[in-house]
Amino acid sequence: MRGAVMHGPGEIRVEEREAPRIVEPTDALIRVSAACVCGSDLWPYRGIGTGDGDWPMPMGHEYAGIVEEVGAEVRTVKPGQFVVGSFWASDNTCEICRAGYQSACVDRVPMGALGAQAERLRVPLADGTLVATPDVPSDDLVPSLLAASDVLGTGWFGAVAAEAGPGKTVAVVGDGAVGLLAVLAARQLGAERIVAMSRHESRQRLAREFGATDIIEERGDAGVAAIKELTGGLGAHSVVEAVGTQESMNQAIHATRPGGHVGFVGVAHGVAIDGMDLFWSLAHVHGGPAPVRRFLPELIDLIWNRQIDPGKVFDLSLPLEQAADGYRAMDQRDAIKVLLTP
Ligand SMILES: [Zn+2]
Repeated sequence: MRGAVMHGPGEIRVEEREAPRIVEPTDALIRVSAACVCGSDLWPYRGIGTGDGDWPMPMGHEYAGIVEEVGAEVRTVKPGQFVVGSFWASDNTCEICRAGYQSACVDRVPMGALGAQAERLRVPLADGTLVATPDVPSDDLVPSLLAASDVLGTGWFGAVAAEAGPGKTVAVVGDGAVGLLAVLAARQLGAERIVAMSRHESRQRLAREFGATDIIEERGDAGVAAIKELTGGLGAHSVVEAVGTQESMNQAIHATRPGGHVGFVGVAHGVAIDGMDLFWSLAHVHGGPAPVRRFLPELIDLIWNRQIDPGKVFDLSLPLEQAADGYRAMDQRDAIKVLLTP
């Protein structure tokens, strides 16, 4: 089977990989209908946080597709169904899962290691990981269902962690796919005012389509000052951090009012939080790898009923064979998010 493999920084090849098969009785095999390139795939692409022992690396952890085969113990999905899963396989039954933190499941398996940018994918813990759609979707729904697998679920978690809701002013730091979908989430959760922080015209436009009421182009301290100005000097009730850098984390904490909430979902690289800064902020700070599985049934329902259209974040769609072009486009910010079709 064909699959995308990274052989070193900047080096993506689509090549023959061994076809997956059922290993555990709780596995499912799916034929991938659509996969995509994640902002977090760009870290190894840029050689950040990787070493010589990491290559070759099968790529991809976002997926939606048709179940082809299930192990003997799988009960909730069956061949022929269209399914969406999270980037962490989870049992969905342990105490951590039941509390809604499936991304820290005691039995979790990282889907990235299995390589979803491929024709076929083995999904461990299928009952706890996959959610079937009511029927096989029409083609136009597939991008949005794929978005639920990670970027929508992650943006949603960011907004939930930041306690976005009615009467709240929500600021979103980061205009990548996750940040843009955190805007959409804040809107769905009923936020009164949603501030997208972006200096890119096309991303600002999408942010407005998703529900942003205000755009702030400034970054860092100037960005914080602009949020304060919008909120009578108080800061936002809720801030979603969707980048993962020192600057974006500082900006998020400093832009939050005392008693407010920061939801951080950008994969942190080289971020240190100053204890005194945090002490005086009086902010609630919560985040991490999003427990997307918690939200999947609700998100699939919203997409299925065409109440939300998160698939708009895919502004470039390529055949899997051209995955390298997709990585390049995202790396150079020519594309917000690249969909790959096996
Ligand atoms: Zn669990």
